[in-house]
Amino acid sequence: MYQQDLKTGYLAEPYKIRVIEPIRQTTREEREEVLKLAGYNPFLIQSKDIFIDLLTDSGTGAVTQDMQAAMLRGDEAYSGSRSYYTLSSAVEDIFGYQLTIPTHQGRGAEQLYIPALINKREQEKGLQRSKMAAISNYFFDTTQGHTQINNCKVINAPDESAFNTSVRADFKGNFDLQKVVATIEEIGAENIPYIVSTITCNSAGGQPVSMSNLEAVYEIAKHYDIPVIMDCARFAENAYFIKQREAGYEDWQISDITKEMFKYADILSMSAKKDAMVPMGGLLSFKDDSLLETFRECQTHCVLLEGFPTYGGLEGGAMERLAVGLYEAMREEWLESRIQQIEYLVSGLESIGIQCQQAGGHAAFIDAGALLPHIKPEHFPGHALACELYLTAGTRGAEIGSLLLGRDPETRLQLPCPAELLRLAVPRATYTKAHLDYVIEAFSEVKKNIHKLKGLSFSYEPPVLRHFNARFTQL
Ligand SMILES: *Cc1c(COP(=O)(O)O)cnc(C)c1O
Repeated sequence: MYQQDLKTGYLAEPYKIRVIEPIRQTTREEREEVLKLAGYNPFLIQSKDIFIDLLTDSGTGAVTQDMQAAMLRGDEAYSGSRSYYTLSSAVEDIFGYQLTIPTHQGRGAEQLYIPALINKREQEKGLQRSKMAAISNYFFDTTQGHTQINNCKVINAPDESAFNTSVRADFKGNFDLQKVVATIEEIGAENIPYIVSTITCNSAGGQPVSMSNLEAVYEIAKHYDIPVIMDCARFAENAYFIKQREAGYEDWQISDITKEMFKYADILSMSAKKDAMVPMGGLLSFKDDSLLETFRECQTHCVLLEGFPTYGGLEGGAMERLAVGLYEAMREEWLESRIQQIEYLVSGLESIGIQCQQAGGHAAFIDAGALLPHIKPEHFPGHALACELYLTAGTRGAEIGSLLLGRDPETRLQLPCPAELLRLAVPRATYTKAHLDYVIEAFSEVKKNIHKLKGLSFSYEPPVLRHFNARFTQL
């Protein structure tokens, strides 16, 4: 066992910090000016004006000394780079997947496999893509976006507990298996180009998916001959939760659980900026040659969209760093420390009466809908709370609610959102317990005037992925 605070049980961080980045606190007057200039959209604030940045855990965490060292080994050959083979061997060793394309990040993998799988259905079976729909426990926003720009619909089939923040359950990221089968029967298996298993389920609050649920979805998919994609940005956190919570896995290594999870998919699509700890990188890998034609099509499009397939979107050094990061991601003591940080933040917020989604893998998800019942969903309570948090404490979070979900592409009406959340994502090994205490303290300040907070409306609304560039006025 390692060192523990005897009063609170909090574990000392299982690493020491050797490179530091200064951050600066601002005054409330400065922040009011900054937020106004940013059109009341925290995405548009310059990071120099932020004290604690919990916008995302994507590419923002610390890297390890072995990852840094590996960069120097990069082979920058245009084709057949040694670093490519280091990376693809690591993928085969860890996940058991044989065919790999490195991409610049997760969406780089999506822009290759999504059109390829939809084309395949269209060409093989003479189907119309407008009748097609892909299924997921919950689509991440870029996965949804890539599916939709290829004229295919998306259907989410989350467990019914997923968005109810008052329900505690071990695997709130699970698929609703009955809904999966009912959906396939209703629209016809041939109209479903793929099923995406998202681990952990980002949109439901970083909630894990159980091994038995992954297996069951894969069996259903095989029965109906539908390929399964593991959208696996947070594969190691998911494996850690399985070890903690699912009977039978208590004594397994994280690496063994990982390999087992990936039996239940055909393709992996990864944003390596999350668990794999790199500032930039992604992977698209196929388990074997059973979808060889699709893999070849992805390789061809990779040349046009990312780069030659033995570097894709990455330089040689970055492929070496990613190969190391994939292994570092599975260090159990680091996973334990990381999940403890999230639990600490969530329980600290709940102790001052801020209701949260049950602690998941990478972030605290605050129920802004419950906290701000006087702000209607179309005036974005989660976003209003994000603005107030910045004004109070120079801390940045991201709305996960109606603003992110957006409008129905056909009717242009706001889609009904299951929960209005504010996400405080915690970058890996970056902030300390004192930073988390500061954020909790900030919320007790925010809470004092909570009933006076106002909603927002658009002064500029982009047609898609509007949360990134939108500008607002306060009501
Ligand atoms: C981050 C993420 C993506 C997209 O990856 P990028 O690296 O941001 O392009 C896709 N799926 C999930 C589940 C993610 O968390």
